[in-house]
Amino acid sequence: MESEKQVHEIAGELAKLNVHLLRGGIWKPRSRPGSFQGIGNEGLRWLKEAGLQNKLPVTVEVASPKHVEEALSEKIDVLWIGARTTVNPFLVQEIAEALKGVDIPVMIKNPINPELELWIGAIERIDKAGIQRIAAIHRGFSTYEKTKYRNVPNWQIPIELKRRYPSLPLICDPSHICGTRNLISTVAQTALDLNYDGLMIESHAHPEKALSDSQQQLTPAALKELLENLVVRSAVIEDVIFRNMLEELREKIDVLDKDILNRISKRMEVAREIGKYKKENNITILQVQRWNEILRTRLQFGIDHELTREFILKMYELIHDESILQQTQMMNKKPVPSSQSPVSSKE
Ligand code: PEP
Ligand code: MN
Repeated sequence: MESEKQVHEIAGELAKLNVHLLRGGIWKPRSRPGSFQGIGNEGLRWLKEAGLQNKLPVTVEVASPKHVEEALSEKIDVLWIGARTTVNPFLVQEIAEALKGVDIPVMIKNPINPELELWIGAIERIDKAGIQRIAAIHRGFSTYEKTKYRNVPNWQIPIELKRRYPSLPLICDPSHICGTRNLISTVAQTALDLNYDGLMIESHAHPEKALSDSQQQLTPAALKELLENLVVRSAVIEDVIFRNMLEELREKIDVLDKDILNRISKRMEVAREIGKYKKENNITILQVQRWNEILRTRLQFGIDHELTREFILKMYELIHDESILQQTQMMNKKPVPSSQSPVSSKE
């Protein structure tokens, strides 16, 4: 949110798209001082009025008990806790205390680091404060490496959250995952295909002039197009023929998975045997040349078989780590003292 006029304009545009909730950031946690920190308290009233005029409930990010108090006093309808706050259990606890006895929905973003327990911890703190309506927001995770995303999605983390808490509504924030607008529709569709319950997407009438995150802002027109192109698929399979077909395909996957695990287990057996020879000949476990050779050939093979480079790399790093671990255990195995050796006396 940047000015009263801007908030009213964008709210009117978004209401036409039938969005369910109007979000505005007024206290902006920015990485560096000197960036736009948000317009502060007076924005609460602008947001609430824009919401009332357009019959939309409104939500703001709260990062301290003071924010909670001020948002509640302006009758903000929903609160959200940002990624930089979820990382701090002290702060989340203080926010939870401020929410005791209040009936308001609270959405909790994942922490910036990929730690599921920390996310769950924040959810538990808010839950223990007596808040009944809680949702989780997946906004991706920070990495030092440059990737095509601003915050890598690590889908397995929200999926595990959903597995553990099936009734907890899960919302995706593709804007902060992507950081650039052209990736947003793909990530939003992936979220829907993973059965998410909603999307939180940033919109600005003039993205190029936006005071924060301008690369990821969508104009209301672009947001409209994105929403129209999203496919909402059903999670329940009603068609019997389709269900049987799916059953058959899943059986195939079960067999293939067993096959994969069997093969990997055999591969480790061979690695241990190599470890034994390395030990006898006193040579190092890591042979860089060999590792380069494996990567080069497997990458080529995988790419020729429609697997992505990222996948092969990750998979081989895991396999290689496990191989090294198994060889290390083999190398450092203490020789069995001859008196305990079952064959020693006969040798
Ligand atoms: C935001 O939602 O505008 C925001 C600051 O996001 P996050 O907490 O995900 O970084
Ligand atoms: Mn933002």
